[in-house]
Amino acid sequence: TAFIGGSLAGLGEVFSQIQRAIGASERVIEIINETPETRNGVANKEKLKGDIIYDNVTFAYPGRKEIDILKGLNLTIKEGQKIALVGPSGAGKSTIIQLLMRFYNVDSGNIVIDNKTYTEYDLAYYRSNIGIVPQEVMLFGGSIKENIEYAKPGATEEEIKNAAEKANALEFIENFPEKFDTLVGDRGIKLSGGQRQRIAIARAILKDPSILILDEATSALDAESEVLVQEALDKLMEGRTTIMIAHRLSTIRKADNIFVIKNGNIVESGTHEELSTYDKGIYSHLLSLQFQAN
Ligand code: ATP
Repeated sequence: TAFIGGSLAGLGEVFSQIQRAIGASERVIEIINETPETRNGVANKEKLKGDIIYDNVTFAYPGRKEIDILKGLNLTIKEGQKIALVGPSGAGKSTIIQLLMRFYNVDSGNIVIDNKTYTEYDLAYYRSNIGIVPQEVMLFGGSIKENIEYAKPGATEEEIKNAAEKANALEFIENFPEKFDTLVGDRGIKLSGGQRQRIAIARAILKDPSILILDEATSALDAESEVLVQEALDKLMEGRTTIMIAHRLSTIRKADNIFVIKNGNIVESGTHEELSTYDKGIYSHLLSLQFQAN
């Protein structure tokens, strides 16, 4: 009834607006119905396997193109392998991850995932294969349920609950009177660092990615949370290619291979046992200085 009293011309205008709106919503439905294959890049029905090769990768940040941060980096991670990136601050560890996430393009060289240049994949498909447990977990204003579901929109309550259970988060969630509907974020309750980590782990479990990135927190959690988080992370890593930016000896020891990064390149690699016997090495030096013992 909004256009009663309007001129016939006005009515025509409203009508054509409605038609345009219908057209637009049809377009939205078309996009939603589009199969992944029809978007701009390669998207398989199956998940990626998670074979990763950095082949002679050189990269400088936009706006600072004169400084190469990665300088011909070569790094091979086989499907299902767990590797740790270690090295001094500013060495380029996060940059390696940011490239993998496709936040930037390499300047030269290539990143090859499952035998294909990584930019050949449809971006949404590609990112759906990568899970991250970040150093500082950000939760948005909303319920715990929404914060977990975000990893897989439309997930069932059962799936969300299972993910929380595997992440060692179910017990603390169910101890809140509102349980999964408990509000978190600015206007909600404040979760501890360890609880937020476990929400992030639940998200990653729900996402079920082939490639997992763990950016280990530098600050220690309380002892109980520490055990629960470690246990949950161990479960999460099973069967997934995992890249850990590691600060703790206990985490680093678990890696199949450790890469020591310095000035944008790999300067040493091997297992903890191999690298720590080389007492003039950078790893040994870092061991004595930097890594947290627990
Ligand atoms: P940390 O252990 O301290 O996190 P890192 O090994 O992860 O260090 P990066 O964060 O990859 O190191 O940084 C490598 C270099 O790139 C640093 O010199 C840093 O100043 C620079 N850098 C990082 N992000 C940007 C950016 N967005 N723009 C420009 N330079 C950047």
